[in-house]
Amino acid sequence: MRILVTGGAGFIGSAFIRWVLANTRASVVNLDKLTYAADLESLARFAEDPRYAFERVDICDEAELRRVFAAHRPAAVVHLAAETHVDRSIDGPMAFVQTNVVGTVTLLRVALDHWRGLEGAEKDGFRFHHVSTDEVFGTLDDEGRFSETTPYAPNSPYSASKAASDHFVRAWHETYGLPTVASNCSNNYGPWQFPEKLIPLMTLKALQGQRLPVYGSGLNVRDWLYVDDHASALWTILTKGRLGESYNVGGDSERRNIDVVNAICDLVDEMAGPLPGGPRRTLVTHVTDRPGHDHRYAIDATKLQTELGWRPSETFETGIRRTVAWYLENRAWWERLSANGYSGQRLGVAAAP
Ligand code: NAD
Repeated sequence: MRILVTGGAGFIGSAFIRWVLANTRASVVNLDKLTYAADLESLARFAEDPRYAFERVDICDEAELRRVFAAHRPAAVVHLAAETHVDRSIDGPMAFVQTNVVGTVTLLRVALDHWRGLEGAEKDGFRFHHVSTDEVFGTLDDEGRFSETTPYAPNSPYSASKAASDHFVRAWHETYGLPTVASNCSNNYGPWQFPEKLIPLMTLKALQGQRLPVYGSGLNVRDWLYVDDHASALWTILTKGRLGESYNVGGDSERRNIDVVNAICDLVDEMAGPLPGGPRRTLVTHVTDRPGHDHRYAIDATKLQTELGWRPSETFETGIRRTVAWYLENRAWWERLSANGYSGQRLGVAAAP
């Protein structure tokens, strides 16, 4: 089985590729434009592996997509390529419309033609797995959780673009019969995550003794999933999911942002030693809230668990410990990102003096 993974040089895509190559006999074609968020270092050990190939392609480039599908004849597509950072979508929404909406539709058109050209078991077995986010459901108050039937109510340009892409995937299944499955996952964390997202950002700032900018009150709640557990869920849904269905993916690990940041501070104090000025929790600085900041996300993953038998293997406590330890052990990686011009200062807080 050869799987075409779009966005495979990103945080979740690369974790999924590593998981597939380690746990299955499938081979992988990684198709990625290599934006600022991409990093092939986490896949460098597969460069000579006959089960792995890389194609630098933009999903908006239809001709290039057609070339890749003809050359590799994938048995499945797992579509992760996207612009993903909410703050960037507020500053510049058009890149999100272009990649997440136009790019997804371009990919759907090419995948449909590819599928129509297949025959017999190859045609029956083909799958297009669309990877999406729980943010399409909007925000919750303190009660309830998102299920697969929760109405869509996206609030940021990012989530609106992902919601649009979800609808197009549904339409390609209902209208043209493309064999699709889809998944909506909660916030991921783990090794190799680009340090503009909350957990790596706070870990690196805490390590360096910089102020820790927390939006608003810090009481916003997110549901966290360790990235390797997302990878195993994607494989489960790809291989066992019912056609045309979507599955929510989450780890039953709701945490307030301020509690996540404090947990990181305590782990960095423990692993790297305390700062002369005292515990790192004192570095927390509340900054002006993000516009349209959703209050709470929480995932009900019952369908995935009962229908397909998936379970996460990490709790938040074990996963965050592994993650913080990884950033401590991989200083060269994030120092290279800093040297390449990424400052981690998007939240507008200067480094502590
Ligand atoms: P990421 O930003 O780390 O990686 C995205 C990858 O897509 C990058 O390698 C980038 O180069 C590539 N890409 C961007 N535009 C492209 C284009 N036009 N053509 C080809 N490649 C392009 O993102 P991530 O956090 O790994 O998220 C992957 C997917 O999972 C996204 O679809 C995202 O919406 C979804 N998701 C993410 C989370 C999360 O917490 N990170 C949670 C749920 C769902």
